[in-house]
Parts: sequence; C-alpha cells; structure tokens
Amino acid sequence: MILAVNYIISRRATVSITVVRLLYAFLFILCCVLLSACSEPSELDSSNKLHLHTGQVMGTWYSVKYLPPSNAERSVDDINTEIHAKLARIDLLMSTYKATSEVSRFNAVEPGVWFDLSPQTYEVIELAQDISAKTLGAFDISVARLVDLWGFGPEQRAHHIPDADQLKQVLTEVGYENLKLHGSQLKVQKKTPLHIDLSAIAKGFGVDQVADYLDRIGVESFLVEVGGEIRTRGMKPNGQPWRVAIESPATGQRGVHSVVNVTDLALATSGDYRNYFEENGQRFSHTIDPKTGAPITHNLASVTVISSTAAEADALATAFSVMGPDQAMAYAKAYNVSTYLIVKEREGFVGKASEAFLAVTRDKL
Ligand code: ADP
Ligand code: MG
Repeated sequence: MILAVNYIISRRATVSITVVRLLYAFLFILCCVLLSACSEPSELDSSNKLHLHTGQVMGTWYSVKYLPPSNAERSVDDINTEIHAKLARIDLLMSTYKATSEVSRFNAVEPGVWFDLSPQTYEVIELAQDISAKTLGAFDISVARLVDLWGFGPEQRAHHIPDADQLKQVLTEVGYENLKLHGSQLKVQKKTPLHIDLSAIAKGFGVDQVADYLDRIGVESFLVEVGGEIRTRGMKPNGQPWRVAIESPATGQRGVHSVVNVTDLALATSGDYRNYFEENGQRFSHTIDPKTGAPITHNLASVTVISSTAAEADALATAFSVMGPDQAMAYAKAYNVSTYLIVKEREGFVGKASEAFLAVTRDKL
C-alpha cells in the first residue's frame, strides 16, 4: 500500500537553539520535498485545487494547505494575508522574545497589580490554567523563570546547571495557583514575582485561530500546521483523508514510526530529542517539571496527542512529557485522551497507544 502522507512531524536532537533554527530551515525544505513526493500528483498539478501558503512566525515555520472557497469573495492573496496577520498578532501578543509583547509587559509588572489582557491572551491563559488544574500542575505557564535559569528562555544564557539556591528561590515563586484571572474584566494578576511563558500552547492556539478563520469563510478542506502542531478539516479534494506521519525519535536515524489519519482533528507532538543540552553525560530537555524546577529526565522520548483543538493537544503533549509514560497513560485512560507515546526502552523505542488513540485511528481508517 502506498501511503499518501500529508505531513511529517520531524523533530531532531540538537544542542543549541541556533542549530535548532538552522535545522528547522533544513527540515522545512526537506518536508516540502517529501510533501510533494508523497502527495498524489493529481492533487498538486492540473486538477489540483489545494493552495499551499507558508511563512515564518513565532520563531518557527508554518504551512497552510487549503481548498480556496468556491465563492469569489476573497482571493487566495487576501486569505494568505489574513492567515499571516492572525499568526503575527499572536506572536506580537504572546512572545517572550519581544520586550513589548503583552506577555513580556505582564512579566515586568509587580505582584498584586491587575493587568489588562487582550481577548486572545486571556483565552490562552484561561485554557492553560484549566489544563494546569486537570494535570495537577504538570503543565504550568508560570515556569518562565525556571526556563530562563536553565538557559532555554529568551535571555539565552549559556546552557548549564543553575545555582541551587537561585533555583530554590525561583521555585518558591512558581505555581499556576499564584495567577488569578478576572473573567468579566479580562485581567490577570500574580501573587508572586513569577513570569509566564506561553510557548507550549501558543503555537496550537495559532493553529486554531487560522482553522476557525478558514471554517468561517467556508473553506471545506485544509491542513494548518505551525511548528509541528496541526489541525485539519474535511477530506482532500481527491477524497483521501489527511494523514500525518510521526517520525521515529531515534537520533541519527530517519524513519516513520506510525501514520495517523487526523481528519477534522488536531494533533500535537512534544519530544525531548529536539531542544536539549547535555552536561556530565546527562540530557537536559527544555521541558521543565514544575514540581522539581528541573528539566525532565525520564525515558519518554516523544508524545503525540490528538484532540479537537490544537491548543489543547499542544498543552497536553507538554503535560504528558512532564508526567512520564506511566502517569501520562493513566491520565489518558482516566480522561479518554488520544495519545501515542514513544518510550525509550532497553531494546529500543517502543510505541504505546492509549485506547482512545486506537479508537480514533481505527474509526478513521
Ligand atoms: P514541545 O513541543 O517539546 O512540548 P513546546 O514548544 O510545545 O515544545 O513547549 C516547550 C516550551 O514550553 C519550553 O521551551 C518552555 O518555554 C515551556 N515549558 C517548559 N516546561 C513547561 C511546563 N511544564 N508547562 C508549560 N510550559 C512549559
Ligand atoms: Mg506543547
């Protein structure tokens, strides 16, 4: 059977953020080549109705493949401009790399001050807080200063193990319970001098914003992807489902671990093999366990979550990375989450699917 894979989640190990960026550029080109190689020619040539729009945002690449709506109200140029504007707006509001972003300005205010939020940032923080409560704090946007201490934040300090006393101090200030939202007034307040980091949910939210826009203007078939987080709608014009290949996390090896049908769903992947540094033979990932204040160290190499929204899938994938394989699987069972874990065991990488994941993929085959 020939698989028509529409997207390959491709995340590679590296030891420096600059190298990550270069690698992303390389992988993007590679993915474009693979995409055109894997898609049926009829879909991209003469009878092809799918339009491909790509660009850069949030320090990563995005791509949107869609069937332009049949009514001639908007040109594809108008649609592409709107897609980019939506993503750029989220970047402008939520980036910790931009000193004037809403998130950076909130990070700079003192505890106890009510801070006004845009509806988008409010929505993301509200969802993040909900997921923090459900995952018992495994997902926690208040980890920003820990992320910085370990050298994974915008301050780009050299990667090294931070000073123990400093770590202890910052850890006492971290905790999603120290953030308070004022729903009717779209305001947020911190009880401690914490900073927030929306990196583990904003890309997914961006995907949802674009997907909702395409739905609104009547696009019946699309695949939206920002930095590996994906959402799709309908069937491709050739009647085939949208399919995504999950790459094997083995370093130095390129291979497809499994292929999933994600029609009308969102999918996000989180992995410890893409952004990390090594010291004294130990690997330190950019995902921080908010309980210990340290990067995760267990043997869960990659987490894929399928959900109805990309923001939720994105955040849950990070939460599961923090929990580790056993707890993540127990959570998936309790909350009926579709997840696929790739665990590094003595004999190699082993894939573990939750029942909900098997059901989703089986129903859609
Ligand atoms: P991955 O796809 O590997 O999960 P993401 O980009 O979704 O990567 O999220 C990782 C980023 O989220 C980190 O670089 C950091 O900024 C932030 N982060 C780290 N640990 C947590 C956590 N426990 N909860 C929420 N955000 C986190
Ligand atoms: Mg994430």
